[in-house]
Amino acid sequence: MNNTKAYSAAGATSPLASTKINRRDPTEHDVQIEILFCGVCHSDVHQVRNEWSSVMPTVYPIVPGHEMVGRVTRIGRAVAKYKPGDLAAVGCMVDSDGNCPHCQSGLEQFCPNMILTFNSPDRHLGGVTYGGYSETIVVDERFVLRVPPNLNLAGAAPLLCAGITTFSPMRRWGVTKGRKVGVVGLGGLGHMAVKFAHAFGAHVVVFTTSPGKKADALRLGADEVVVSRDANEMQKHTGSFDFILDAVSAHHDINAYINLVRPDGTITIVGAPEKPLAVSAFSLLIGRRNLSGSLIGGIKETQEMLDFCGKHNITADVEVIPIQKVNEAYERLLKADVKYRFSIDMASLKSE
Ligand code: NAP
Ligand code: ZN
Repeated sequence: MNNTKAYSAAGATSPLASTKINRRDPTEHDVQIEILFCGVCHSDVHQVRNEWSSVMPTVYPIVPGHEMVGRVTRIGRAVAKYKPGDLAAVGCMVDSDGNCPHCQSGLEQFCPNMILTFNSPDRHLGGVTYGGYSETIVVDERFVLRVPPNLNLAGAAPLLCAGITTFSPMRRWGVTKGRKVGVVGLGGLGHMAVKFAHAFGAHVVVFTTSPGKKADALRLGADEVVVSRDANEMQKHTGSFDFILDAVSAHHDINAYINLVRPDGTITIVGAPEKPLAVSAFSLLIGRRNLSGSLIGGIKETQEMLDFCGKHNITADVEVIPIQKVNEAYERLLKADVKYRFSIDMASLKSE
């Protein structure tokens, strides 16, 4: 039965450890992929530790990972888009009903029957879905993406979540040349946001709690860097931003950033801290500011993002690690110590 090596956590306080899980044989429309690299998203950490229990409680054991690139090894009879040997990628979703209004408009992430890559009901095998910290995955071809061949694979994996999660809201809110754009939190998502905003031609300001990241922020494409604990520096930007993306994983004062948005400008939250954030009504009333959220992105837009990255040679800056170092990587994420995404080299799983 259990035919695939993986790493899983047995409980909210357990470390990830080697295990074996079951993957189905490809059905008609399925693609089987050997996973080469899988990014480590802070969402993996939140869910392994059951920090989102009020919204999506974690079912244990959990196999996290939703930023995969790999090679197609087998295909179902009806698969037309992929063949064995092709490069392929899988992100945060593996299925949806395909016919609800959201799916029809390319927003599968809002489909009431959407299945996440891990910790969602597995319609084929029962139990829950298992993610990318594993040797292989079997996915309906509708949820498989093409990887531009010029991209470094370890750096391409994080595009599947960190990439699309930052690309999508910036597209939606019109981040273009001449706009003043803020990025809060220079982690996995934040550093991708900087790269995209820069590529779109915006004037990019990074807000960080880590003074040591200043030089990197500029190298990644920021025009200015503000250490957010410096109230004077923050004050200088009051009411001036067209758009701010908040990609912070932990509790923080969001009003400090809302106040920096210009009248009718927008701040979008993509970070998903465990506890609710307190919003001052006045921060929104004054300047008629918009506060919004964004969740990953649909499949069509994810492919557009990957193609954009291929064209502009954009990948994540990664620290490649063997899977055996994943618990250490989680500890470092909690200390905001990542440059700027961990990408697991899945070849390391073979020795388990
Ligand atoms: P990450 O790599 O750990 O980066 C988070 C960054 O937030 C840190 O590098 C740090 O940046 C900043 N930060 C951390 N603790 C902070 C604190 N106490 N106060 C202020 N800033 C702090 O995480 P990630 O993978 O980018 O994910 C970020 C968040 O987005 C997570 O909550 C994740 O679950 C969520 N997420 C949401 C979606 C979605 O669809 N909406 C998709 C993926 C992830 P500085 O050092 O620069 O301050
Ligand atoms: Zn993610």
